[in-house]
Amino acid sequence: MLGNQYSISNIQQITGATGTIAHNVTVINLITDSRKINNPGASLFFALSGRRDGHDYIPEVYKAGVRNFVISKPPAKAESFPDANFLLVADVLTALQQLAAYHRAKFDALEVIGITGSNGKTIVKEWLYQLMCPDKKIVRNPKSYNSQIGVALSVWQIDAQYNLGIFEAGISTVGEMEKLEPMIKPTIGVLTHMGSAHDEGFANAEQKLEEKLKLFTNCQTVIYHYDTLIKYKAQVPGKTNFCWSRNFREADLHVFSETIIANKYYLRGTYKSKEIECLVPFIDAASVENAIFCWATMLALGYDAQICDDRLEKLVTVSMRMELKQGINNCSIIDDSYNSDTQSLEIALDFLNQQNQHQTRTLILSDIFQSGLEHNVLYKQVAQLVAQKQVDKFIGVGKALSAHQALFSTAQKYFFSDTDALLSVLPDLNFEDETILIKGSRAFEFERVSHALVQKAHETVMEINLNALQNNLNFYRSKLNANVKIMAMVKAFSYGSGSFEVANMLQFNKVDYLAVAYIDEGIALRNAGISLPIMVLNPETSAFDKMVEFTLQPEIYSFTLLDEFVKFAQLKNIFDYPIHLKIDTGMHRLGFEDFEIEALCDLLETNKYIQVQSVFSHLVASDAEVHDTFTLNQIRAFEKAYHQIQGALKYKVLRHMANTSAITRWPVAQFDMVRLGIGLYGIDGAINNEVNPLQAVATLKTSISQVKKIRAGETIGYNRNGSLPHDGKIATVRIGYADGYLRAFGNGVGKMLVKGVLVPTVGNISMDMCMIDVSAVEVKEGDEVIVFNEEYKIEELAKQINTIPYEILTNVSQRVKRVYFYE
Ligand SMILES: *Cc1c(COP(=O)(O)O)cnc(C)c1O
Repeated sequence: MLGNQYSISNIQQITGATGTIAHNVTVINLITDSRKINNPGASLFFALSGRRDGHDYIPEVYKAGVRNFVISKPPAKAESFPDANFLLVADVLTALQQLAAYHRAKFDALEVIGITGSNGKTIVKEWLYQLMCPDKKIVRNPKSYNSQIGVALSVWQIDAQYNLGIFEAGISTVGEMEKLEPMIKPTIGVLTHMGSAHDEGFANAEQKLEEKLKLFTNCQTVIYHYDTLIKYKAQVPGKTNFCWSRNFREADLHVFSETIIANKYYLRGTYKSKEIECLVPFIDAASVENAIFCWATMLALGYDAQICDDRLEKLVTVSMRMELKQGINNCSIIDDSYNSDTQSLEIALDFLNQQNQHQTRTLILSDIFQSGLEHNVLYKQVAQLVAQKQVDKFIGVGKALSAHQALFSTAQKYFFSDTDALLSVLPDLNFEDETILIKGSRAFEFERVSHALVQKAHETVMEINLNALQNNLNFYRSKLNANVKIMAMVKAFSYGSGSFEVANMLQFNKVDYLAVAYIDEGIALRNAGISLPIMVLNPETSAFDKMVEFTLQPEIYSFTLLDEFVKFAQLKNIFDYPIHLKIDTGMHRLGFEDFEIEALCDLLETNKYIQVQSVFSHLVASDAEVHDTFTLNQIRAFEKAYHQIQGALKYKVLRHMANTSAITRWPVAQFDMVRLGIGLYGIDGAINNEVNPLQAVATLKTSISQVKKIRAGETIGYNRNGSLPHDGKIATVRIGYADGYLRAFGNGVGKMLVKGVLVPTVGNISMDMCMIDVSAVEVKEGDEVIVFNEEYKIEELAKQINTIPYEILTNVSQRVKRVYFYE
């Protein structure tokens, strides 16, 4: 995060840290993630401990050029960091928060809106920004950086040029708001919708509310929904209040009439005994409520009712998403539709840098509006970021960027005065085999650029939520015993979810190993820049040379295979090649059996061509209670085999057995490493509690190509299998068995979600299409249809046709385009 300047000795005083300072440098950036470093010379790294211990990353961060560290335990080998400053504190997060609170306090005249609530915080924050940026210079959290760390980094951006701060605070349990309040120190508070999010972290709804209200301890004014706080009015902090209600006339803003007019929402209310109105360009209940909060906030801040109306009508959707798609000429396109500013540019450039699949990294950026900065300061910052993040090709669009082109030092750079000028020469720019980040302010309509560069998708797409994947990975990480490694299973295109896109994410999140089914799959990952060790479950003898060329490690499951590989290694003069031994403990698929282990040991002891990396086995029913005795026997048999093999070898060998369900159900089987598969993708047969901690990763959606009226008794589709029991209508949708929507789903077995309504299939599924009964739904051609998502789950579909979720996922054919998104 870009920020302000403090000398390191000053920071030592503020945080009360001990330790000697070798060089008194100026710190501008605060870093909490070793993978996201910018301007290392002027950075201070906080070795936070969360799921991982930040102290473990000090060598890596030091190597990247960072010399200043806040730590809570001295480094083991201080001599490896000769010119580092170590600030030793009792608690690293507390130190970060102290620094942020100190920084906030320096700007005590700054007006700050603090937002909390269960839902709508980010939207209300972004909308207030949209509404007030015409007349205010606003600093705010990037995206939804509202956590204990996110708020500290957000507040660090405050400096003298701003005259308004808008910061959201997110908490999940008691005691957290006390830490956020001093950093934000809001003068105005907004309590958004109170719902059930994060209920599990609190004893009851009252406790959650009390905790949230702590943000407003020092507020002048608090804005809230009257009905929500009716029981608590006396407890609402703030010298004055401003509340709104649909039901109570005594509220400051009484909304008494609501109508939908031409897809807009028309609101009328009473304020200071006068009737006022506004038109909002959204009609769903949540957006309308968020808009009312914004309306109330503007009124409370003294905005004229007419200005409120003018600006509310121009609100635009807030999207946090970055989408990763296949582009033309073997390019990858990252489409970032979040509004453009330097903070979110930095976040997007980090995502660009996570991509390894192409050598060239390209940025298409528009002028940045409402930054509050002078152009020469702003674009100098941008040019610095672009250089730091190693962009190879820079395309600037807009008059301001064009005027500052001298600041940019990328190998290739192009400038255009507007989007049309760029579009007119787009083909001549010869984009090929590169990752292109597209990021523009709204006025530049960069969706047109994206449209020109993205490969046209047939309208059935599978969306992969990379945040959900990361969440699931972290969930399993939290269940691991100390020092247990993770091998992520990315066979069969990551269970249908994609290849390098998923592997990049896993590599970025530092899993230890990947596993694929075949050598080809491993080669594809290597070609996309994946450098993690990769195990191949079914190595084909005919492709051993490729396997070695691409440094893939074979699973060896039989004497025949071992013999063939050793012969190959001998012939090629390869020594100590890493292999993995598979033991059959009951699956009876692949692997050495109990009676073979001794002979295997004899062979291994003297063999100089191979080196055993790991010994492993696979559980057949780790999620099923009825087979628990069998599972236990498998674990015992595996331990015996492992000890025999380890005993025969002079070096340490890893052992692993647990697949997804065993991680939580059989912690004793975690050994040195676990092999995480379907859980990554949000599915785990062993988890069926009410609050499922896993998030669905994949959404399969298609669209309606035609709607037809059908009379009762008329037949529908091949072989006349389908009909409606009454007069009604059907929709033809663009998905069939060739896309992976199996024929078994036909004739009402399968269902799809249309406008939130679950409707059955009618008749047989065709190769590329099928029909659904939409008699009860208002639909038109082009409308979206959900085959599965986080609400209508893959597990449900699997049950309908008597299969398992694995098959549903991996069946989605390669013809269905994958779109990845990340927030
Ligand atoms: C696929 C596979 C896994 C992963 O299983 P999940 O149930 O998806 O977690 C683990 N080990 C081996 C050998 C596999 O083939």
